[in-house]
Amino acid sequence: LQDSFAKITKTLVGKSKITDKNIEEAIEEIKSALLEADVNLRVARRFINATAEEARGEKVLKAIDPGQQFVKIIYDKMVHLLGDERSELALRGPDVTSTILFLGLQGSGKTTNAAKLALHLKNQGRRVLLCAADLSRPAAVKQLEILGEQVGVPVFTGEHQDPISRAKAAVQEAKKHQYNVLIIDTAGRMQVDTDLMTEIKAISDAVNPDEKILVADAMLGQNAVDVAKSFDEAVEITGFILSKFDSDTRGGAALSLKSITGKPIKFIGTGEKVEALEIFHPERIASRILGMGDIVSLVEKAQETVDEEEARRMQQKLFSSDFSLEDYLEQIRMVKKMGKAGELAKLLPGVSAKDIEEKLDEKQMVREEAIILSMTKKERKNLLILNPSRRKRVAKGAGVNVVEVNRFINRFEKMKIQMKKVMKNKAYQAQLAKSL
Ligand code: GDP
Ligand code: MG
Repeated sequence: LQDSFAKITKTLVGKSKITDKNIEEAIEEIKSALLEADVNLRVARRFINATAEEARGEKVLKAIDPGQQFVKIIYDKMVHLLGDERSELALRGPDVTSTILFLGLQGSGKTTNAAKLALHLKNQGRRVLLCAADLSRPAAVKQLEILGEQVGVPVFTGEHQDPISRAKAAVQEAKKHQYNVLIIDTAGRMQVDTDLMTEIKAISDAVNPDEKILVADAMLGQNAVDVAKSFDEAVEITGFILSKFDSDTRGGAALSLKSITGKPIKFIGTGEKVEALEIFHPERIASRILGMGDIVSLVEKAQETVDEEEARRMQQKLFSSDFSLEDYLEQIRMVKKMGKAGELAKLLPGVSAKDIEEKLDEKQMVREEAIILSMTKKERKNLLILNPSRRKRVAKGAGVNVVEVNRFINRFEKMKIQMKKVMKNKAYQAQLAKSL
């Protein structure tokens, strides 16, 4: 889906004119991209109609950059399809235990994602308890115990050998020991069947969970939507974790789930590791699908390199013998822009970031800048010509005492001498060569 949309946006951006024919062509392409991605047919139709309707509007035809605007329409509709805003877990206050029930088919990723979510919540400072209520396979409990140990979250098993009693006992345990969150892992089946639904409903009624999360396998595409409908009819789910998003090249389930069930996707599973869980942000996923994320990261990357190059150039300059106040001024400005003393420390050998923070505070930088600006270009290049009367003039221009001007000039001269010394140091030269 990403590839198809990247192509579509590419053809649209830069189009100086959007005609009915253009729209028709793009819409056709979007349609086949969606269907190829296994997006639910009803969802695809609705999406296309809404997009086309808005795109045909006068507003777009008269716009300055219609191509980009068209892409924006597609993007907005897609964000809407994905659920508009990120949806948080409905957790209770810190003094009440919240219960989250995990549901889904066998192999959808319930157990793995229960551990992932436990880790996620634990990292937010919550006390989490896991409950192994999948008693259909002997290995299921063991699997959760191993994962629980991995993420440092206790796993409740208890005495009971039926899932309903066990889930109930887990709630008692969690309340007794004041856990903030209890996550209950349940059994799945290969397919939706009445036995499974009866069991799920019984557990749900017994523990009355705050969240009923369906773990949906993204690789199932449209079938994931059918599964979701069945679970929702049985227990009224509250949201999804879309697992195996990393393996889903088509993206059909992501686009259809919210639209068909009305329930939000809250997280996506992005790998087998316990850290591989991401909060679901509709805007980010839409950008990813449309290939707009690439543009953003490209711009960010470019900005980074500009700063890096600037820093490198300054560093080279710093160690050349003609480092002048003019350069120093440029450096102050760069540091101010970067806003980090650590960056200046990188440029000044033998000085720690802490030193700089203490000595070169913002206010001092402002005063130094004023002093340098009050000098003529000639004076900045050659401090020797700064006789007492010139210094007085500079002080007056900068609004500081002449003593401060003298102190600043001395400091700068000393810094240059120290710099020369450092440059004679072989070890430092080697290090510098490496960093350049
Ligand atoms: P359950 O039967 O629903 O409990 O499913 P499991 O948690 O046992 O997961 C089934 C398989 O899917 C395991 O091999 C997991 O490692 C794998 N899995 C789960 N979530 C993800 C995911 O987000 N990405 C990938 N690539 N694999 C996943
Ligand atoms: Mg399991």
